[in-house]
Amino acid sequence: MVTNTSIPKLFSPHAAIRRLTSTAPNRVAFAVSPAAAQIGSFIAEKPYTPPSWACDLSPVPSHSFTLGQFPTPIHKWNLPNLPEGTEVWIKRDDLAGMELSGNKVRKLEFLMADAVAQGADCVITVGGIQSNHCRATAMAAKYVNLDCYLILVTSRLLVDEDPGLVGNLLVSRLLGAHIDLVSKGEFSKIGSVALTDLLNKRLLEKGRKPYVISGGGSNSLGNWGYIEAVREIEEQIQLSGDVQFDDIVVACGSGGTVAGLALGSQLSSLKTKVHGFSVCYNPGYFYNNVQGLIDGLQSGLNSHDIVSIEDAKGLGYAMNTAEELKFVKDIAAATGIVLDPVYSGKAAYRMLKDMSNNPTKWEGRKVLFVHTGGLLGLYDKVDQLSSFFGSWQRMDLEEFVHAKKALVRCSA
Ligand SMILES: *Cc1c(COP(=O)(O)O)cnc(C)c1O
Repeated sequence: MVTNTSIPKLFSPHAAIRRLTSTAPNRVAFAVSPAAAQIGSFIAEKPYTPPSWACDLSPVPSHSFTLGQFPTPIHKWNLPNLPEGTEVWIKRDDLAGMELSGNKVRKLEFLMADAVAQGADCVITVGGIQSNHCRATAMAAKYVNLDCYLILVTSRLLVDEDPGLVGNLLVSRLLGAHIDLVSKGEFSKIGSVALTDLLNKRLLEKGRKPYVISGGGSNSLGNWGYIEAVREIEEQIQLSGDVQFDDIVVACGSGGTVAGLALGSQLSSLKTKVHGFSVCYNPGYFYNNVQGLIDGLQSGLNSHDIVSIEDAKGLGYAMNTAEELKFVKDIAAATGIVLDPVYSGKAAYRMLKDMSNNPTKWEGRKVLFVHTGGLLGLYDKVDQLSSFFGSWQRMDLEEFVHAKKALVRCSA
């Protein structure tokens, strides 16, 4: 492995030593075991060794925390109305944990290790009012004994009100996260970097040692989460023998997940085509965004060569049409997979739309859909969902009434 001596301060100065003292045979033996198999190995820091195909990337993180339940399962997803011979499989990153469910935990395993290595006493991050990333960050922070400050973006009408206890917000608030609300207008005018800088400055003035995590945990360090996920998929394929995937499909919000998958897929033996379905910005934004992320790791690659971005945003970020929500409900009822309304639901909805509009593009292909979690976001859509539910009834207890009468007669 290449040891990089010009590692910026993001990465521990003890990196090389940690790597030398890591016990390689152990890593191999436990590579495909659940994270919590060994007593004390969950929420523990461990030295990090990248896959051999990624060791030319730079910088390489020195260590990571075990925060999720990995590997997550991959299984066949029997979606209705697929094109001729098309198979869809699903990687269940929604099962990476309970409160830590979803894709953000993979990034946080690296980000939290860095925060601790830098001697931080709190973390700052930013996201939408129902942000999965903010909830996962609040959780991971407490696991590693850090305080958590969240800047949450809400509508202008609600910015001066108590934000309530729905979905992700309930969990973030249970965890004692400090919450600063800003309006969507303020957010787009000031920007996430200036907002986190401002809070960072205020906390520094109070003598705190904050560590800032960019929106969605998407930066070059967080990217390692999905580079590592590619190693996991590679190992799962090797174990299973004959499954090979032609396409990987994933929702795209801040770009880190699709960037890590695309980079990993390109560098590893996978060589699978990666499609990101954007739930917020236009595709052009994400080609640049992914480019910035992979440049940050000195990959030397062009985002247009390794990823294809398609538009799935519909009405806009975190907004749903009735058709999209009905899709989430129908897929749950048909397949047992509960998608989230903001990310995976929109990505799957667009993917199936594209499959029905352009069947020849997908015919005979094996597709791996990465379910990135986000279940708690459904609680925010309860009112909109309620019109789809009809089948319930008062239970008929007539038999018990007769049985009781008979019982009374017997004992008389
Ligand atoms: C954040 C998020 C995504 C998008 O991942 P990015 O790395 O931000 O592009 C997808 N699904 C869910 C459930 C998320 O919370």
